[in-house]
Amino acid sequence: MMNELNGKRAVVTGATSGIGLAIATALAQAGVRVMINGFGDEAQIAAARAAAGDALYHGADMSKPAEIADLFAVAQSELGGVDILVNNAGIQFVSPVEDFPAAKWDAILAINLSSAFHTSRLAVPGMKASGWGRIINTASAHSLVASPFKSAYVAAKHGLAGFTKSIALELATHGITANCISPGYVWTPLVERQIPDTMAARKLTREQVINDVLLTAQPTKQFVTVEQVAAAAMFLCSDAASQITGANISMDGGWTAA
Ligand code: NAD
Repeated sequence: MMNELNGKRAVVTGATSGIGLAIATALAQAGVRVMINGFGDEAQIAAARAAAGDALYHGADMSKPAEIADLFAVAQSELGGVDILVNNAGIQFVSPVEDFPAAKWDAILAINLSSAFHTSRLAVPGMKASGWGRIINTASAHSLVASPFKSAYVAAKHGLAGFTKSIALELATHGITANCISPGYVWTPLVERQIPDTMAARKLTREQVINDVLLTAQPTKQFVTVEQVAAAAMFLCSDAASQITGANISMDGGWTAA
């Protein structure tokens, strides 16, 4: 299955860590030339580049449209185009709505939702010209259901699912698919970082947050792995998935079945 991707070119946002890094690594293993993006210190970025097949790196802040435009200009000159776009960069902030900092709301909407618009509008012309493309958006179970204290994240992820459906329809006759993968809780730095805030917001211990808040939602009582999310992304890139478009694929241990 994977040879069919040999020589394709991908941009993966938020790929210095967690899910994005796993997707970039899997793409590189299939012979895709990858440009990664995301924050981190020099060692973290170097490790991510090495894992993703000596990937190119662009440090665009996904909340800044001008930096996203520069990323695509560099992808055009260095890779010659973008066949696979993975919109994965995302942040979380946990707070009661009345205390939710307005700047955090704006940042979450910009990074988790609007960046996918800015990247897609720049990637689509080249995909249309070649008659092939894959847009894969890391959404979340929170694109389908809500949790308290995550108003901005839930709004952004619901928006991302809607955006994905809309462009899937626009691009359906061009050989380009657009889909969401919606994981439940994946054990990554993003989840680890929200534990202290959830402890404060709900007045719980660390163990209570892991067992009674996070894994409570997941009927399997297990975290999703980054490798499982990457495997779903690789399937969506394959020819076998060419008729899957506008879908929101749940990978949440049964969470949203309830
Ligand atoms: P992570 O914190 O490990 O990785 C996030 C990545 O995004 C990092 O590379 C980080 O540098 C990058 N990033 C953050 N802000 C950025 C910005 N302004 N510009 C560019 N890059 C930026 O988190 P993760 O868990 O791997 O999350 C990846 C995606 O998966 C996110 O969209 C997240 O919402 C989604 N998701 C995560 C889970 C989970 O349980 N971990 C569940 C569902 C969905």
